[in-house]
Amino acid sequence: MDPRAVWTRRSFTHASLATVAAAGLLRPGNETAAAAEPSAADGFVDAHVHVWTPDLDRYPLAEGFTRGDMQPPSFTADELLAAARPLGISRVVLIQMSYYGFDNRYMLDCMAAHPGVFGGVGIVDHEQPDVADTMRGMAVRGVRGFRLYTNREKAEAWQHSEGIKRMWTAGAEQHLAMCLLADPDALPAVKAMCQAFPNTPVVIDHFARIGMRGAVDPQQLAMLTDLARFPTVHVKVSAFYALGTKAPPYDDLEPMIKALRNAYGAERLMWASDGPFQLAEGQGYEPSLALIRDRCPFLSSRDRDAILRGTASRLFFS
Ligand SMILES: [Zn+2]
Repeated sequence: MDPRAVWTRRSFTHASLATVAAAGLLRPGNETAAAAEPSAADGFVDAHVHVWTPDLDRYPLAEGFTRGDMQPPSFTADELLAAARPLGISRVVLIQMSYYGFDNRYMLDCMAAHPGVFGGVGIVDHEQPDVADTMRGMAVRGVRGFRLYTNREKAEAWQHSEGIKRMWTAGAEQHLAMCLLADPDALPAVKAMCQAFPNTPVVIDHFARIGMRGAVDPQQLAMLTDLARFPTVHVKVSAFYALGTKAPPYDDLEPMIKALRNAYGAERLMWASDGPFQLAEGQGYEPSLALIRDRCPFLSSRDRDAILRGTASRLFFS
């Protein structure tokens, strides 16, 4: 599986990421802010952040990636926590970064170094016959989901892939989520998978990337709200920097968030930043959190608590 065939980060990310470091967020000296582990249960949960380390000797990149692909050059767990904790974010779900391919060690090591602080979503090779065992082994270490990149073509092929069926079956048996970075046109095939695997938890990233090319397409949004009929499906309200007008305060995304809240209920939505990309200059961690915490007047305080803490807590920290 070559994730870049579907998802090229450069096409998804419009902001200059190198400027994150220039903004001072990533100064190594800030790591002291992460020294004390707070009591994590009450804080916000960011359900989607990628971390990586410039230590390529210990954590080499997958074939085809170079150090130059890493933008910003460093976004370690400590750098992440230094940015998250001042905002009241106490737990974060780490999403295996494409740079590392199927080598989930850096993510797993970060999880082990900060017990209770990090959840995990891994990437496994579904072509391997023992993929269910691999998933089980990672679940023991706290991983609760597995990422799949998909467009329409790939999602349509899933129904004929023994490896994908093994993954979705293992997901149902072990209550591990299939975490889909899907294009909008993949949603009909995703629906077919949800019908075929009614007990497999599903998390759809970044509103299924509706609005990536600008305005939210109502037909695409209708496909996404239609999936709410499956009680296993959840949606990440996330990656605001990449959707709609792609500029804070991201108010233009409020109607889409409202439609999803009405369809799914807040207990099946979860906020996420998609750091470090959301932290780029002109975007920011705070405005991403603030859209759910302070804006969206249609959200009740219970809705906000579910989206900012409860849903991700249930899926990724239990
Ligand atoms: Zn991401």
